[in-house]
Amino acid sequence: MNQISTMVWAQTLYNSSNIAFLVSNAQRHIVSVNSAACTFLGYSEKELLGKSSRIIHVSNKSMDDFITYIEAVKRGEYIDEIVFFRHKDGHIIYGRIGADYIEKSDEILWSLIDVNKRVQIEKELREKKYQLNVAQKLLKMASWQYDLKSGQISASDEVYTLLHLDKNEPLTFEKFIAMIHPEDRALMLNNTKILLESGRTEGAIVRVYVEVRDGVKELRYFKSKGMALFDANGKPYGTIGAILDVTNQKLLELELKEKNRLLEHQAYYDALTGLANRSLLMDRMQQKFAHADRHNTKVAVLFIDLDDFKSINDSLGHEAGDLYLQKLATIMQERVRRSDTLARLGGDEFVILLDDIEDSDTIIHIIDEGMQAISKPIKVHEQDIYPNMSIGVALYPDDAHDATTILRNADAAMYEAKKRGKHTYSFYNEAMTSAAYEKLSLEADLRKSIENSELRLYGQPQINAQKMYCSGFESLIRWEHPTLGLIPPFKFIPLAEEIGFIVTLDRWVMQESIKWLAQLYKKGLNPGVVALNIAVQELEQEDFVDFIQSIIKKYDAQASWIEIEVTEGGIMKNPEKSIAKLQEISDMGIKLAIDDFGTGYSSLAYLKRLPVDKLKIDKSFVDGLPDDEEDATISRVVIALAKSMQFEIIAEGVETKEQLDFLLQEGCDNIQGYYFAKPMPIEEFEAFLQKPL
Ligand code: C2E
Ligand code: CA
Ligand code: CA
Repeated sequence: MNQISTMVWAQTLYNSSNIAFLVSNAQRHIVSVNSAACTFLGYSEKELLGKSSRIIHVSNKSMDDFITYIEAVKRGEYIDEIVFFRHKDGHIIYGRIGADYIEKSDEILWSLIDVNKRVQIEKELREKKYQLNVAQKLLKMASWQYDLKSGQISASDEVYTLLHLDKNEPLTFEKFIAMIHPEDRALMLNNTKILLESGRTEGAIVRVYVEVRDGVKELRYFKSKGMALFDANGKPYGTIGAILDVTNQKLLELELKEKNRLLEHQAYYDALTGLANRSLLMDRMQQKFAHADRHNTKVAVLFIDLDDFKSINDSLGHEAGDLYLQKLATIMQERVRRSDTLARLGGDEFVILLDDIEDSDTIIHIIDEGMQAISKPIKVHEQDIYPNMSIGVALYPDDAHDATTILRNADAAMYEAKKRGKHTYSFYNEAMTSAAYEKLSLEADLRKSIENSELRLYGQPQINAQKMYCSGFESLIRWEHPTLGLIPPFKFIPLAEEIGFIVTLDRWVMQESIKWLAQLYKKGLNPGVVALNIAVQELEQEDFVDFIQSIIKKYDAQASWIEIEVTEGGIMKNPEKSIAKLQEISDMGIKLAIDDFGTGYSSLAYLKRLPVDKLKIDKSFVDGLPDDEEDATISRVVIALAKSMQFEIIAEGVETKEQLDFLLQEGCDNIQGYYFAKPMPIEEFEAFLQKPL
C-alpha cells in the first residue's frame, strides 16, 4: 500500500466507523469530527468544528480531567477511561475514551466508544443488588454460596449473625451440618443431594443449635432453600441459596398443634381419668369389629359398673370419689393388654374391649385375673376401699352386630350381674353365664379345698397276680365338695392344671401319701410301693427334688418306697427338660413309671434315655381284651417292649377274669383294677392289707 492509498483508507475508516473520532488542537479546540462523533454528541459537524472542547464537558472538573489526559497522552501514556460528556440535549452520556498524540500538528486524536448501555446496566445491577441487600436484611434472610470443590461457604453477614458465628472463621458445609439437630441432618444432606441432582428443592426446615452466648445453645428453626449452580458442561459446581429464621413461626405452629391436640384429646378422652371416652370407645368398637370380621375372631365388650360408688361419694365426698375413680382407672389400665381399650362412660361406668377372643373361657380367665388384681384395697384419704364391680359381657358378633346394640346388651348383662348379688359378672347369653358360673365357683372352691380339708386320699392296690400279693398301691385323689358331694378327678384335675393349682394339689397328695405310708410301715404292715401321679408342671418346678427330699426326711420314709407316675404325653411335651429332672429323681432311688403308655407318641430313642422302671398299659387297651384284636396286639407289643428293655410292666383297669388271664398269659403279672380292688379310702386300705387276697 503506498502512502496515498493508506491515507485514503484511513480517511474512509475515519468517516464511516461506528467509533466516534474527534481531533483537538493545542488550544483544545475541536478541529475534526467524524459522523459517529456527531451522532454520539448530538451536534452537527458545523456546530462542533472550531469550538472549544468545553462544549462537550459536563463541568470544570471534567475539563480538568481532560487536561490531565492530554498531558498523559503527550507523555506517551496509554489511556482507557470511561468519561461522561454532555449531549447537546443536556443529558449525560458515557464514553470510553482512548487517545493518540499527533506530534507533527500538536493535535490529539480521540476515540469515543458509546458505553451508555453498559453503564446503564451496571447502574441498574448495583441498584438491584443494594435493594436485595436491604430486603434480605429486613427479612433477616441470609444468603450463601457453597462451592463443592473447596467445601467452603461464602455467606452474607446475616448468615453469621443468624448462626452466631465469627465472621472471620471460614464456614464450611461440614461445620454447618454439625450444628444441625442430629435428627434433621439426614434431611439436610438428602436435600442437598436432590438439589445437586435436580437443580432445585422445595426447601426444608431444620433445627439448628445456635450458641447464643458462651456455652448457651438455643434450638432455632431455619428454612433453607437453594438452587444448584451448573458449569458449561451441565455439571454442578455448587449451590446458592438462602436461609431464613422461622423459629417464631415454627414455635407458634407447634403451640397451635399442641392446642389442637389438646382439643382433640378433650373430644376423645375423659377429663377425670384420661381414659377413652364414649366417642372414642364407639370408634374403637367399629375398628375392632371390622378386625374381628377379617380374622374371624370375636370381641368381648365388658360393661363395668362399680357397686358401692354412691356410698363412697356420700360418705367421703365427691373429691374423694374422684380420687378413687382415678386410682381405680390407673389400676385397671395397667391390667388390660395394650391392644385392649379401657373407656369411662361417665360416673362409675367403665367399658373394656377385649379383642382376638376365641372362646368364652378366655374371657372368664381375663375377668378372673382382673377381679383378683383389683381385690386389694385402694387408699383414699386414709380410707381403705375394696373395689366391687358388676360386669356385663356381650360378644361380637354373637350377641349383636353393631356397636350401640352390643353396648346396650352388655349393659343389660351388667344389670343381671347386679341382681345376682353384685361383684360378679354375667354374660348377655344365659347359657354362657351359667357355664361360666359353674366353672368360676368350682375354681374358687378348689382353691380353698385344702384349707377346708375337703381332699381325700384313696388308694388302689396293685397286685402281683402270679404270686398273689399286694406289691403297692396308686394314690388317687378325691374331692369331697360341701354341696356337690364327691367329685371325681377328671372333673377337677384339668381345672387345677388350667388355673395353676395342680402343683399345690400334687404336693398335698405326695405329702399325705408318704405320711400315711410311713405310718403303715411303723405299724409293721407291708404296703409296698406308693405310686404318685405327678403332673408335668411339677417337673418344671425348680424345688421339686428338694420338696420330695424334705418330706422323705420329715416322715422318716425311704426313697425306695416311692414310685412316680408321669404320663407319656406329659413327658413328651418337653422331653429334654423332663429327662434331666427325672434323672435326678431316679438317682435318689425313686422309681419312674410311664402312665397311660401307648396313648402318646414317645419315641424309643427317648424311652432309652429316660430312667424308666415301669410301663403302665393304659386302661383303654385293657378294655378290649381279649377279643379286640387291635387292643390285644397293642398289649402284646407293649409287654414285649417292656421285657426287651427290661422295664417292669403293669396293666390298669383290669375288670374281668378274661382280661386277667390274657395278661398273665402274655407275661404281664402286675395288675391294677376293679377285678381285685377299687380305689378305697385309706382306712379301708389298712384292713385290705391285713386280709388274705
Ligand atoms: P390314672 O392315673 O390313669 O389313674 C387310674 C384311673 O383309673 C383311676 O381313676 C382309677 O380309679 C381308674 N381305674 C382303676 N382300675 C379301674 C377299673 O378296673 N375300672 C375302671 N373303670 N376304672 C379303673 P381316678 O381315680 O378317677 O383318676 C383319674 C385320673 O385322675 C388319673 O388317671 C390321674 O390321671 C388323675 N389323678 C388322680 N389323682 C391324681 C393326683 O393326685 N395327681 C394328679 N396329677 N392326677 C391325679
Ligand atoms: Ca396314674
Ligand atoms: Ca392311667
